[in-house]
Amino acid sequence: MAPARRFVDLHTHSTASDGSLNPAQVVERADERDLAAVALTDHDTVDGLAPAGEAAAAFPALKLVCGIEVSARWPDGTLHLLGLGIDPPSQATRDLAAALLGARRDRNPRILARLGELGIPMEMDELLALKQDRPEGEPVIGRLHIAQRLVARHVVASIQEAFARYLGPGGRAYVDKERLAPRDVIAAIHAAGGLAVLAHPVGLGCQNAAQLQRAVKDFADDGLDGIEVYHTDHDERQTRQYLDLARQFSLGVTGGSDFHGQGKPDAILGRPRVPLAVLSERFRQKLLR
Ligand code: AMP
Ligand code: FE
Ligand code: FE
Ligand code: ZN
Repeated sequence: MAPARRFVDLHTHSTASDGSLNPAQVVERADERDLAAVALTDHDTVDGLAPAGEAAAAFPALKLVCGIEVSARWPDGTLHLLGLGIDPPSQATRDLAAALLGARRDRNPRILARLGELGIPMEMDELLALKQDRPEGEPVIGRLHIAQRLVARHVVASIQEAFARYLGPGGRAYVDKERLAPRDVIAAIHAAGGLAVLAHPVGLGCQNAAQLQRAVKDFADDGLDGIEVYHTDHDERQTRQYLDLARQFSLGVTGGSDFHGQGKPDAILGRPRVPLAVLSERFRQKLLR
């Protein structure tokens, strides 16, 4: 008998949002990495979950966790919440995704208009061409796609530069996207049947430990279930700090790579190593059952 699998990756993206592998390929790669579970957590859509589910049927040793990643309102940084263990076909999940897609549909043409004014004309078709292998449904186009095209066209030398100069806050083509308050995102994830997890807390941009602690306390008061302690962008000190916060506020511990494929080459599926054993009983019951 093969030894039981011991590691999980609870944060990945596919061509349903801004990843470069299609959902079935993400599942295949997770199985190749001998993972016990992989969560597909595309931004603002659940369209990848059906094809991922079909692919997962061929890999009985791998558990597919249905997920989504949602941005929430946050003044000085990035606040992303993962919904893990959501129920894909429910109306609540579809409603949430539809509202989020509406905000994107409104924002993306404004970014392209800004780029045009800067002498960098870019068409939506050029972005859609990056997503030929996407699942059915309304395509999710994001800033990472625009960044990839800016690199391909030699407007910038790297994705980082694309965000620093054009697409990130303070960049010349930055346009904010309408977002829900954290409490409302958490409630929507619960309505969708999922556990709400604070993704990559490093992205919050907190200036000190006290500020971060206050933020996590507020999210916990709003119903947060867990915190993504292990993540590609966290160093050892941060990982320890987030583990302490999880204990302090009785939050579940999760972790994932934030795999995107080509758009984010530093994120490798299955890295960092996240032992199944870090998950609480509640998370295991909900996600791995
Ligand atoms: P959007 O949801 O369209 O606003 O785009 C956000 C996505 O862009 C994130 O989830 C990342 O995939 C990517 N992103 C944001 N900032 C950066 C950055 N500085 N470098 C690389 N990718 C980034
Ligand atoms: Fe992304
Ligand atoms: Fe994120
Ligand atoms: Zn992500």
